[in-house]
Amino acid sequence: MPEHKPLRPDELLALDRQHVWHPYGPMPGTVAPLAVESASGVRLRLAEPAYGQRELVDGMASWWSAVHGYNHPVLNAAATDQLGRMSHVMFGGLTHEPAVRLARRLVDITPEGLEHVFLADSGSVSVEVAAKMCLQYWRSLGRPEKRRLMTWRGGYHGDTWHPMSVCDPEGGMHQLWSGVLPRQVFAETPPPGFGAEPDEAYLASLRELVARHADELAAVVVEPVVQGAGGMRFHSPAYVRELRALCDEYDVLLVLDEIATGFGRTGALFAADHAGITPDVLCLGKALTGGYLTMAATLCTPRVADGISRGEVPVLAHGPTFMGNPLAAAVACASLDLLLGQDWAGEVRRVESALRTGLAPAAALPGVRDVRVLGAIGVLQLDHDVDMAAATRTAVSAGVWLRPFRDMVYAMPPYVTDDEDLARICAAMRAVAEAA
Ligand SMILES: *Cc1c(COP(=O)(O)O)cnc(C)c1O
Repeated sequence: MPEHKPLRPDELLALDRQHVWHPYGPMPGTVAPLAVESASGVRLRLAEPAYGQRELVDGMASWWSAVHGYNHPVLNAAATDQLGRMSHVMFGGLTHEPAVRLARRLVDITPEGLEHVFLADSGSVSVEVAAKMCLQYWRSLGRPEKRRLMTWRGGYHGDTWHPMSVCDPEGGMHQLWSGVLPRQVFAETPPPGFGAEPDEAYLASLRELVARHADELAAVVVEPVVQGAGGMRFHSPAYVRELRALCDEYDVLLVLDEIATGFGRTGALFAADHAGITPDVLCLGKALTGGYLTMAATLCTPRVADGISRGEVPVLAHGPTFMGNPLAAAVACASLDLLLGQDWAGEVRRVESALRTGLAPAAALPGVRDVRVLGAIGVLQLDHDVDMAAATRTAVSAGVWLRPFRDMVYAMPPYVTDDEDLARICAAMRAVAEAA
């Protein structure tokens, strides 16, 4: 066996800078990341202290995913047990219990009518698959001209090609790729406020847009109720309900991207449940495996599957190498058991109430434009962009891991975060807003 000497923190960071891309980063990196040695419960343990702290309370749940916290005995046991059988086998021509169990479980807990499950390896891929399902559906029905997508501004659906085309067009990615990305149909950003009365003029604008483009639209693709990485905005479920009605009326498919909102984050198990509707296609990811492994799912109704199967090419031509990965599927099943075997709604309400209490004082800070909380999501929106390096220093000094972006300081902590740690997260968010 080759000798394996642990890297000293300075060696690790030097090699990282030399060789490793980070999300949305330049090469070489300009801001040194913090090296994490291990994680347990809601705490990240750093390889060496940063700004006086060795352990940080994680306010980000590793981008919405680690809902049960880190190093969880139940999830560890599920992974170890599955590892002893097989960590992976191809899914072409083979199947296995973890994937079948997971598919059945997802069908049972998602809105009524979604019956078929495509297991993919990341959220972006699940959105690609959703787009492919919808375009192929219309092609199979002899209407290949229905191949555009409609969405509303302010969204985020991933970084691969079709998902990028329905991300907010004001973001850098669209400008960079203008003329290259497929040109989709955009409605305005939905008016803000989960509990706000639906805006009649906005509803009318959605109707007008769907009606005008119905002949060329394969699908409407949106994040229901919460727009995540596109701006952390909340809107009334009434808009999602209206899209369902419009899609039915004008013969367009509805795709809901619940990669961020799924599994309880907004206070309902799925954000579609706030609206009481079933989409034709549903994308899930992030918290699916409790943040342990990469896996996503695209669910669809029998109408979509039958349509595709009646076409000239009667198959869904997509099949990632790691499709249905047994290790990820086994952990996903365990994570769902863990979530649904407890009063998850009560826990999310507890987190919500702690975020409301802890963030309310920030409303009085100069430079804070808006304070909003929904489920286990808390947001401070500033009137200017955050200085990332300074914000990180402030949060880490307060013993908390946050990752603000643009004018947003936000948290979506693990549901298991206790009240004391939630108070720390809120204090760190207020400190970042105050410093900025
Ligand atoms: C994170 C995210 C994606 C992309 O998922 P990846 O696993 O990062 O590819 C897509 N849609 C939404 C709403 C997301 O939050």
